Amino acid sequence: MIEKNVAIVCKNGPLENAKRALAALDLQRIKGLKVLIKPNIGRAAHPGQGINTHPQAVAGAIEALKDAGASSIVVGESPIVGVNTMEAFVKAGIKEVTDKYGCDLLDLNAAKPLKKEIPGSRILGFTRICPAVFNFDYILSLPVAKCHMHTGVTLSIKNMKGCLWQHEKVRYHQLEYRPGEIYKEKTLDSAISDLATVLLPQISLVDGYIGMEGMGPSGGEAITSDFAVASWNPIAADIHTCVMMGIDPREIPHLAIISERMGIPLDPAFYEVCGERRDDYKDYIVPYARPPVSISIKYPDIKVYDCDSCSACQSTVMLFLKRFKDDMSQYLLDDGMFHIGIGKGLDGKIKKGTVLIGNCTKAMKEFGLYIPGCPPVPTRIYKAITGKEPLENEPEVD
Ligand code: SF4
Repeated sequence: MIEKNVAIVCKNGPLENAKRALAALDLQRIKGLKVLIKPNIGRAAHPGQGINTHPQAVAGAIEALKDAGASSIVVGESPIVGVNTMEAFVKAGIKEVTDKYGCDLLDLNAAKPLKKEIPGSRILGFTRICPAVFNFDYILSLPVAKCHMHTGVTLSIKNMKGCLWQHEKVRYHQLEYRPGEIYKEKTLDSAISDLATVLLPQISLVDGYIGMEGMGPSGGEAITSDFAVASWNPIAADIHTCVMMGIDPREIPHLAIISERMGIPLDPAFYEVCGERRDDYKDYIVPYARPPVSISIKYPDIKVYDCDSCSACQSTVMLFLKRFKDDMSQYLLDDGMFHIGIGKGLDGKIKKGTVLIGNCTKAMKEFGLYIPGCPPVPTRIYKAITGKEPLENEPEVD
């Protein structure tokens, strides 16, 4: 039977939104069980930027799970490659919350990965998952509501990519379809749908207190929308979060593919909204700006060659430009533009003197300044270009 209930709660702040949205569901089934809360703490960033799940939303989830009688509650994450999990938990304010409630933190990368075959795979064949996620009775996926340059949005289903082991996440961005097979979606969308066939959260709670619009997952703008959406059905939670973000869920390829593969309706009208805003939730929709089709459109004097990059490099470029764009005026090429290249598919059409960011661009290094890393952090890019350390009092961005 398909779970139809979706709870939507708005305008109470991150803790109360999260707690009340979960409490509006039938939480009896959690009594006596071990629950892993999987937030989105992909980067070491302070709360309030819309990059990570708000720590008070995690607090609200813990309170609701405790009230429901969960026997143990652990918060775990495998962030993007190059980010230290425990440092990210501290900076994101999660450790302060787990200390307060007496819950453990878990670095999902601490144990060697489990290779899981994917029967009927569309593209992956297999995937490498952090084994600790299988030590729990339930996984609660608790992402922050964000737009995403590659996948449209990143919500409770895509958040499960943070249960993948280290570089396995990067593999998802480097896949190619088998010769002769044609799909209309991106390979990443196929890969997320494959993962969903072997790893879905049992319960989903999306933190929409401060989300990210535009060039997510980390290069966009923070937006206060002050809602939470919860459901035992992750597709229902993601569909209704799209609604609250002013986005048509049918435009999100990975949701459409998963809906089709698993026979779960994509139409919001199929589901039953419960919770405090059952009747008037549409009055609280806050439209999120969609991601631009390319970084160059946002910065007209910057030329970005982007061919088959992944979101980690795109986010790094956005963070770099946000922080250092004004310092790049002396490094323009003869067309008056600053040139950046990312991704493994670049070809000889890029201009000599291009700044080539990330290991994937190594083959093109004769065309410009190659900066290795997967991805290199913005300060390293700045140093490679200018030969100087950034000023200490500049704002923190990574
Ligand atoms: S170098 Fe950049 S584009 Fe290539 S895999 Fe690493 S993060 Fe992704």
